[in-house]
Parts: sequence; structure tokens; C-alpha cells
Amino acid sequence: MFSESDTDGGLDGYEAETLSLSPRLTTRLKMPHWISTRVRCVERQERGRLMIDLHTHTTASHGRRTPAEAIQEAYRLGLDALAITDHNTIDGLDEAREALQGSRLTLVPGAEFSVDYKGWEIHMLGLFVDDQDARFRQEMDRVIDLWTDRLKAKCEKLQGLGMEVRYEELEYSGRFPVVVSSIASVMVRKGYVKTGEEAFERYLNEGLPAYVPSLVSVEEAGAIVHQAGGLYVVAHPNYGEPFGDIDEKVLSDLKERGADGVEAFYRGMPKDVTERYISMARRLDMVVTAGSDCHGDCMGVISHPDWVWLELLHALRKRRG
Ligand SMILES: [Zn+2]
Ligand SMILES: [Zn+2]
Repeated sequence: MFSESDTDGGLDGYEAETLSLSPRLTTRLKMPHWISTRVRCVERQERGRLMIDLHTHTTASHGRRTPAEAIQEAYRLGLDALAITDHNTIDGLDEAREALQGSRLTLVPGAEFSVDYKGWEIHMLGLFVDDQDARFRQEMDRVIDLWTDRLKAKCEKLQGLGMEVRYEELEYSGRFPVVVSSIASVMVRKGYVKTGEEAFERYLNEGLPAYVPSLVSVEEAGAIVHQAGGLYVVAHPNYGEPFGDIDEKVLSDLKERGADGVEAFYRGMPKDVTERYISMARRLDMVVTAGSDCHGDCMGVISHPDWVWLELLHALRKRRG
């Protein structure tokens, strides 16, 4: 499916006017984020470096761009590879693939799973999955069913606490309500809490009265990804998970439960943290990935070395035998 020739990059689709913006100028003028992003991308393109973003969301899961728009943006930015990793769904992948229209951009099919790990929710990415595989598609239907069951269970718990929050009222993204914050929004709207944060801190977070653990375990999602030929990666390991950043002990335990890698390059992650995760991955014989987790305008903002992509392809080949 992927070969070394996929890594030669060099798309020539970016707009000529972006070349005339000097990075120094954008810093001085404090240009909007999206312009400096484009400049950075063009700069790197000129240096012949690879640019990948292996964690992005579309309108299938609360992202701002449709899958087709995400592909167009990736092409405009000159990315070599873009993964679409919507929350618990692969609904956007068919449209994204259609939008490729024979361009040299590599679409990495994926999904971001909300999984249960010892009673806590963590996020895991499935990357390079064969999303056309019938069994995988069936499994993903089951994953989204379990996700909506979980949201319904949260609503029921809130009702038990005297709050009239119904599943039918939640904000849809694509075919389903895909973010727990849509529950918090209803709670705010109806005056049960003042802010979304309060909803999470008093009711929705782990250990609180309306918490419902994910109905998909970390092992189960890993098996689904592996069965579809993909790699299974710990997303945003420093996101301040409820038990703190994921440390080497937890990462090693996640490896035991199926994880192949860790998202060591993540939007806004300090360099020393990235280096720490790279070292952990080396010691544990895991791969690292790079992703922006873009829901809006930050596609491709992560700076990463070329070996990230090359090692991933190598790991993929090894996994597929
Ligand atoms: Zn996430
Ligand atoms: Zn994400």
C-alpha cells in the first residue's frame, strides 16, 4: 500500500503569493496563526523536508472543515501526508479519499478512540487502517454505537440527579453527538451549571456522579486497529490525563495492551517533553508519531524530523509482515 516513493513529497500546489511572505515579517507583524503556518510550511517545503500531520479532525467529529476541505487545505499547505482521525468514527474517510483526485498527498486513514484504561478515559489513534475492510467497518459501527450508549448513560445519570438532560438534545457532529462537551453545553443552557468546566468538575469527570467509563477498552480498540492492518498509538500523552502525563511505566503498560507508539510530536508540546517521549519510545521499542489534533486552523503546525515518517512506514511493513 505504501512504498518509499510515497515519501518523496514535493507537491507543487501551494499558492505563489505565500512564498513572498518572509517569516521574519510575519513575526514582526504578528500575523494571524494561519498565515504563519503557511509560511512555515512553504519554508520547509523549500528545504525538501517532509511534512506530515497524523492527527486531524473533520466535521465528522466536531472539526471545522469537511473531509474534502481538509484534503484541500493539506494540499494547499504542501503536506506530504495527512491522517484523518475523527473521534470514534471513520465516517469522513470516503469523502476525503474522493477529494484526493489523484494528488500526491498521502491520506492516512485513521480514527481516534476514546478508550477505558483502568477506569480512566484516554485517547488512542488508529493509523494506516484498511477502512475498506468489511469487518473493520462493522467494528467501527459497533464502536460508535458503544460511544452513543455511553452518552445516553451519562444523560440518564444526570436525570437521576434531577437534571433534565436528554440525549436527543445533544449537538450532533456528522451522524452522532461526538463530544462529551455537548452534554456540558446543555447543562449550561438549562442553568444547572454556570460553565462547561463546572459541568466537568462537578459531574462528568472520572470518579464523579455522572461519569460513565468508556465501553471500549484499550485492548479492544487495539485489536480492532491491528486486525485492520493499522498502527495503534497513544494520543497527546501530555494532555494532562486525569492521572497526569503518561509516564514510562504507563506507556510500557499500554504497550503490553497493544500500543505500538506514542504521539511524541504534538501541537504545543514543549521540546523537552517531545524528547522525553522519543527516549521512552526508543527504550520500549515503540514508534513515535506527529500530529496537530487540529479541529480548526492548525493543520501541519507540528515540526518534526523526516525519520518519523520513515520509521512509521518501516513499522507498518513489519506489522503487516
Ligand atoms: Zn484526543
Ligand atoms: Zn484528536
